[in-house]
Amino acid sequence: MTGPANRSDIDWTEVAEALAPVEVIDETVLVRKRSRDFFWYSPILNAQLKKCFGDLVACPGTREEMAHCLAVAHARDLPVVLRGGGTGNYGQAVPLMGGLIIETTGMNRILEIGEGFVRVEAGALMADINAALAPEGWEMAMFPSTQDIATIGGFVAGGSAGIGSIANGALREPGNIIGLKALSVEATPQEHVFEGEDALQVHHAWGLNGAITEVTLRTVPLRDWIGCMATFDSYRACYAAGYALAVSDRIGRKLSSTVDARIVDYFPRLKGHIRSEKHLLVALVPREDMDAFEELIAERGGTVDLALTDEERQEKAIPHVFEFAYNHTTLQVLKADRSATYQQIGVPDASDDGAVAAIAEKLGDDVWPHHEFARLDGKVVAFDLPIIWFRDEARLREIDATYAAAGFSVADAHTYHVEGGGLKNADYRHLAWKKRMDPKGLLNPGKSQAWDEVRDLSPEAIEAKAKG
Ligand code: FAD
Repeated sequence: MTGPANRSDIDWTEVAEALAPVEVIDETVLVRKRSRDFFWYSPILNAQLKKCFGDLVACPGTREEMAHCLAVAHARDLPVVLRGGGTGNYGQAVPLMGGLIIETTGMNRILEIGEGFVRVEAGALMADINAALAPEGWEMAMFPSTQDIATIGGFVAGGSAGIGSIANGALREPGNIIGLKALSVEATPQEHVFEGEDALQVHHAWGLNGAITEVTLRTVPLRDWIGCMATFDSYRACYAAGYALAVSDRIGRKLSSTVDARIVDYFPRLKGHIRSEKHLLVALVPREDMDAFEELIAERGGTVDLALTDEERQEKAIPHVFEFAYNHTTLQVLKADRSATYQQIGVPDASDDGAVAAIAEKLGDDVWPHHEFARLDGKVVAFDLPIIWFRDEARLREIDATYAAAGFSVADAHTYHVEGGGLKNADYRHLAWKKRMDPKGLLNPGKSQAWDEVRDLSPEAIEAKAKG
């Protein structure tokens, strides 16, 4: 029999004592705070998860302390949730069955910076990694717009792409994660090393199959990035310019995002800095390519309203341009009105701005587009993170169906099962490693539906399902 113990049978005072010398947090209000992530973006997840809380938080500061936490959990069959910055959007870091939360932010050392790579502890914040890389002339190949509060371990375990992905691909693409180390949940936790492609056995497994302790990532030479905001009269022209920038072979870029004017109206920090009631292209372009960028925008009927270095941006008290892109766009709207939500939509042909305009017509006024361009398997792709004014789940599913009928793909942002979102199907490679690394099934219980089918199989039998 595998599986976590019933939380009411656990003596949490005894657990806290056993965890010593690891720092613990047991004050209810603080434990509750650390039981949440950004699942409240989804009214569906909010209803399902808002009452799920852990029982105790452990804050290891070293790999040895992390191993001690996992050994304590193993001996008592504690449900365990690993937590970095708690910025996931699908409740990945929410303890469905209560239990021990292990917060990794104390394990935050930058261990090594070399030619094209950085080796860090899993709890390092990505803004800190970039800050350490810059003086050496490097930057992360990509990072999420939450870099100030999100950890590299959380990004590798729960994220997928971000600022830089238009140039360097998604996290999962060869060479982006050079290697990682993860601890098993056993009587004596073992550290396993995953190198190259093998890192994908742990990447995007939502902390279900091991506790990542260390990550080695690809870095790229630092460039002198200018944060740009260009505005357009029509969303279609704005989107087409975003695509043209994304595929340009003469303009470097690490961000190309387009935002409908109705969403831009929810960006008070940009008021007075950009033309009002216009559609917005947000971009990061290297200084030496600014003339070519301005030409591209003018050719497509837009104007460059803002072009700022980081120092100039700070002087004007404007946030990073990427805080108006990726899932920050949704956050800006949610700050003003909690009835908004979003969805994750793949555009079938990124070059087809006509199809993007046509689907907007079909969807109606409760769906406002916002596109991100990225590079997947060497090809430029677009995905839409539209603002949706939530009425009820039936209307949300009708919107999903409208997209699907027009050939767009939907990676549901309103499920807390790892198989339900972008992954779509069970990843049996992840689950085979779960069986090896977490044979009792204590890590993040309830987040994988497929685990319940395979938990009694051997790792090899689970892996065979991946092949067959
Ligand atoms: P958490 O939320 O703490 O954890 C995420 C998952 O990883 C959980 O399942 C957790 O159990 C697991 N985990 C954490 N640490 C470990 C570890 N050491 N070992 C094993 N498992 C672990 N995502 C993107 O991909 N790109 C974006 O641009 C992006 N933008 C965002 C913008 C906003 C405003 C918000 C709210 C979210 C955004 N996200 C984005 C989602 C999220 O911020 C990122 O994926 C982020 O990197 C998660 O890091 P975290 O430290 O907050 O992880």
